[in-house]
Amino acid sequence: MLMTKERRPAIRTLRGWAVNVLQEAGAIHECEEHGWARDRADPHARTRALALARKHPPDGVSADQAVAEINDVLDSIGDACPECPDESL
Ligand SMILES: [Zn+2]
Repeated sequence: MLMTKERRPAIRTLRGWAVNVLQEAGAIHECEEHGWARDRADPHARTRALALARKHPPDGVSADQAVAEINDVLDSIGDACPECPDESL
């Protein structure tokens, strides 16, 4: 039986949830080659993602927390894949 101690599992899950919502709304997408999430810089998609987050926050998370997490993920994601040299020019 393997038990790993997760200090803050909820946060990690919330981050994964936010990435998922952003992908569903089309606000971010993954680099096909490297799997890095990339910001598509689409304001409409962002608005959709934020509306989704506010309407359907994960269990135990308030709408405000959910929206904050979406914004946090957007802040942490660049518009270029760090491993695609051509796109960072
Ligand atoms: Zn890439």
